[in-house]
Amino acid sequence: MVYGKTSGGLHKKRKAAPFKVISGENWIVVENAHSAVKTLEEHAEIITLLESRRIQPKHSRRGTYVLSGLLYCGKCEYSLQFQPKENGRTLVKCRKTDAFGHACGNRGIELEHVEMAVMESLRTHEKELLKMPVSVDEPDISPQHLLDVK
Ligand SMILES: [Zn+2]
Repeated sequence: MVYGKTSGGLHKKRKAAPFKVISGENWIVVENAHSAVKTLEEHAEIITLLESRRIQPKHSRRGTYVLSGLLYCGKCEYSLQFQPKENGRTLVKCRKTDAFGHACGNRGIELEHVEMAVMESLRTHEKELLKMPVSVDEPDISPQHLLDVK
């Protein structure tokens, strides 16, 4: 356990001393303060899970598509690939193959059908969506959150 990495607070409404990061040599480190709540393998698995669920803004910005990284195969749940076609349209398809090289078999669909369906379903939630605050925070990988996930 590590105590005293920071002092003060960042809470907007609660009054606290100004937030400060304390340098490493002044931390209070207690080795083996409690028995492990997860193995290293479990930790890696949790991180992978969190990363895969997170919408990755950098990745989506690099891609040309609004829905990049957000579409998953209905048959195998693998992330769908975007494939531009010669006629200017885009196909979204599953490229997952199993350990034996067998393809998933989902032949995909033209992107515009997916976009229309998404827009249609967003329209029914438009009012609530516009009321929601937009959060662009980094993913929460605090020990407490990792524990909750576990
Ligand atoms: Zn699939």
